[in-house]
Amino acid sequence: MQNRMIKCLAYEGKVSIKCIDSTNIVEEARKIHDLSPVTTAALGRMLTIGSLMGSNLKEDDDQITLQIKSNGPIDTMIVVADRYANVKGYIKNPNVDIPLKSNGKLDVSTAVGKDGMLYIIKDIGLKDPYVGLTKLVSGEIAEDFTEYFAKSEQIPTAIALGVLVDKNGVKRAGGYIVQLMPDATDQDISKLEENLRVIPPISKLLEDGKSLEEIAELICGDDKLLVFDYATPPVYKCDCEKSRIEKGLISIGAKELDNIINTDGRAEVVCRFCKKAYEFSKEDLERLKNECK
Ligand SMILES: [Zn+2]
Repeated sequence: MQNRMIKCLAYEGKVSIKCIDSTNIVEEARKIHDLSPVTTAALGRMLTIGSLMGSNLKEDDDQITLQIKSNGPIDTMIVVADRYANVKGYIKNPNVDIPLKSNGKLDVSTAVGKDGMLYIIKDIGLKDPYVGLTKLVSGEIAEDFTEYFAKSEQIPTAIALGVLVDKNGVKRAGGYIVQLMPDATDQDISKLEENLRVIPPISKLLEDGKSLEEIAELICGDDKLLVFDYATPPVYKCDCEKSRIEKGLISIGAKELDNIINTDGRAEVVCRFCKKAYEFSKEDLERLKNECK
């Protein structure tokens, strides 16, 4: 099974819909971070919206970072996406385990916390990156991002994100983002709203074997969709490399490096996104110390 993303235009181009099957991305994250069921759902939803938002970037070096910092036991989640919709994620507390909701569902909003902030940082090659922020609405993530689009980008947006977890891991994960173009009519909007009210959760639709095209049709009720397939499926991908980790070590300063040299005599730095470990010998650290200003 592969991840897949499609972009559709409906209502003669007045509505854009992006749908993703992110099952493998979320399963990969679960394995890397050894996520509990509820943190699989929380970080999985973040990775899914990250991938969808990354696909809006234009240039090769563009990057978007999504961060939630809140008062729940998870504390912090960070997701970074590139323009090919590839994503990587970090979660501060991957082992959070809390009771299911009374309806038997994973309690993502309690794990995330309702009292927190959502930050969106777009690095698109300008001198300073764009930073947008909104208060969390519910900690359910889809609602929080919907609020961000309404407040910060002033684009009417509907978002659904879903992760279905069982004892073997991620069964299905996916999401969609529906956005109205300025020329959408009131009639278009009420038709969409009606469809979105009755549509089953995306993870259930995927589990039932619905294709992304079929899901897009259910969303808009328009069978004359214009569909574009993303040729390269998005994946969980980390771009860390030793040279960048070295820069991080240099930035802590000569005094701190000296401290490490004199106590441990070596350093191991683990990438927080992919858990790859980078070893630095005493000689490496001496060399980096000399590069400190
Ligand atoms: Zn990495």
